[in-house]
Amino acid sequence: MRPVSRGSRGKEVLDIQTRLRGLGLEVGREGADGHFGPQTELAVRAFQQARLLLADGVVGENTWAELVEAGYQLGERLVYLRIPPMRGDDVLDLQRRLNSFGFDSGPEDGIFGSLTEEALMEFQRNAGLNVDAILGESTLDRLQRVHKAELGVPGRKIPDRMGGYVGRSALEGVKISLDPGHGGTDRGHLGAEGLTEKQINLDLARRLADMLSARGAEVLLVRESDSHLGFSERAELINRWETEINLALHHNANTSVRAQGAATYYFANGTYFSEAGKRLAGYIVKELVEGLGRTDLHTHGRNFSCLREPDGLSVMVEPGFITHPAEGAALRRPQTIEAEAEAILRGLERYLRRS
Ligand SMILES: [Zn+2]
Repeated sequence: MRPVSRGSRGKEVLDIQTRLRGLGLEVGREGADGHFGPQTELAVRAFQQARLLLADGVVGENTWAELVEAGYQLGERLVYLRIPPMRGDDVLDLQRRLNSFGFDSGPEDGIFGSLTEEALMEFQRNAGLNVDAILGESTLDRLQRVHKAELGVPGRKIPDRMGGYVGRSALEGVKISLDPGHGGTDRGHLGAEGLTEKQINLDLARRLADMLSARGAEVLLVRESDSHLGFSERAELINRWETEINLALHHNANTSVRAQGAATYYFANGTYFSEAGKRLAGYIVKELVEGLGRTDLHTHGRNFSCLREPDGLSVMVEPGFITHPAEGAALRRPQTIEAEAEAILRGLERYLRRS
């Protein structure tokens, strides 16, 4: 979809406003009028902030998908396993409940996958219900009324993606996908003298791919050339390939030229976060800070689609700012990108050694 933002008008805006209001967010005196004004922008930002999205006030693909999913409340529809999987806050609510009862429904990501189906069936079996793997009226009723003690299952720790680890201590044989952000008509952030984010992200991915392959890892380059790929296409490629670790590679930008430093991100949605993702993201940012002397902007839990969609562990890396005069100029030099790749590699190795 085309991003919808301040100044936009029309049916799409009306739809966005109606959904925001449905979630209890005010879109201004005029109400849902199909005009994306300052109040609508505020409401979008508040929504994005609450959902751990990038709070830029623009409704792009990721924010739109979240708006749709936020509209699904438990009990409004039948929920079951299908392709493509059902997704929404009702699924998230189901996963939270199942996990809290000790059934392993997998990561609480709001996506109804096979782990969630198995957990739902286990719940139905334990609760003496018809085991049909569908969240319908009677199962929902039990889910909302039953007490943990009645189910007779031992409390388990909430599971993480991939069981929270990749069962190896070295890169040899590990399936790693590298997803360089942007491409084609989407240039990403822009630096001085025509430097584009899409180009340095790809350069970084290629260098890192070589290093990983040399150490025996299996590598998938999600984008190998200057081509455009939507975020669902990327996720599909990554999941079809059955990645164990996915790295989304970007570079940061800011309207202030003073902004600089390295940051990483792992999946989180307010009540759940990927422990393994947080550890991996932590090691990578530390290596970027120590190895390149970048300012430490730390690691953050976010609900970005590139972190949520991959079935494997996924981390997003922003090694530096393309808009910072010194950092941006350094990014033109192949040695800098090579050093970024080396730092990320060391972060991965540290993570694997400790898992
Ligand atoms: Zn980017």
